[in-house]
Amino acid sequence: SKTPVGFIGLGNMGSPMAKNLIKNGYPVIATDAFPESCKELLDLGAQVVDSPAQVAERADRIITMLPSSPNVIEVYTGPNGILKKVKKGTLLVDSSTIDPAVAKEMAVAAEKMGAVYMDAPVSGGVGAASLAKLTFMVGGVEQEYHAAQELLTCMGANAVYCGQVGTGQAAKICNNMLLAIGMIGTAETMNLGIRLGLDPKLLSKVLNMSSGRCWSSDTYNPVPGVMDGVPSANNYQGGFGTTLMAKDLGLAQNTASDTKTAVPLGSLAHQIYRVMCSRGYANKDFSSVFQFLREEEGQ
Ligand code: NAD
Repeated sequence: SKTPVGFIGLGNMGSPMAKNLIKNGYPVIATDAFPESCKELLDLGAQVVDSPAQVAERADRIITMLPSSPNVIEVYTGPNGILKKVKKGTLLVDSSTIDPAVAKEMAVAAEKMGAVYMDAPVSGGVGAASLAKLTFMVGGVEQEYHAAQELLTCMGANAVYCGQVGTGQAAKICNNMLLAIGMIGTAETMNLGIRLGLDPKLLSKVLNMSSGRCWSSDTYNPVPGVMDGVPSANNYQGGFGTTLMAKDLGLAQNTASDTKTAVPLGSLAHQIYRVMCSRGYANKDFSSVFQFLREEEGQ
């Protein structure tokens, strides 16, 4: 039988990812800062424990799926953190989107304890997480990649080895900067079309067979009524929170400053998502930028 896998962070993404490990026959040992988040997994037979340290005592492969850098630092190096109890040789895979520099720090801290850390952030929304169709971008020691891949393929359709630790995060931050720009562009385009008297379903059909097509238009359309099964069809509940997108754009800005790289549209997208956070959109899906733009016009 398969050895247990630890899973820390059972939120919008972590919960369906952990379910797919259970589906593939892995016993899961789970924990979350909000124990209610583990309820569904408990019902599916996962063992739920109180802290990351307790997960580390019981599993030699651990996946973390947390909101941002401070949560990852806490879960790895905090007083009840993984590294307090980690066993030698344990494989630690962080799928959260965080600062590449923090990923490197975590790798050094893990190595001191005889454990191996890899960054493996994901692309794909909650839908892709449920269907095991995520894309993983993996950074770390290549010889360890195989052991991680075995688990990643249970949760995703693609895993790409990007290089040394932190490079998975770098790839992810670049992807999300483009995603944010594309989402805002799709939202303002759809709104203009609506103002010009076009039916939004028809306009998205035209875009999706034309050169304006993108993921935000054909898979995750921000306009209510255009697609089923996406956050815009459900009052922007669930999905990928605006706070998380603002965080990722902040990471992109930091890395752009460090490397003296011009990212004008990434910078504007960051400002737009930050303003949304302070105007009541923080916990809505990031496609609610469509609603935000409509309200900005006084609609
Ligand atoms: P989420 O906020 O829904 O879930 C995070 C979970 O971590 C929560 O259940 C929270 O209680 C838990 N947590 C926070 N601090 C903790 C701690 N100290 N100890 C234990 N548990 C703790 O977030 P999410 O949408 O699942 O996203 C997770 C990560 O994946 C983020 O970095 C995000 O940027 C990235 N991501 C999200 C999506 C998406 O569509 N939602 C897509 C790709 C990547």
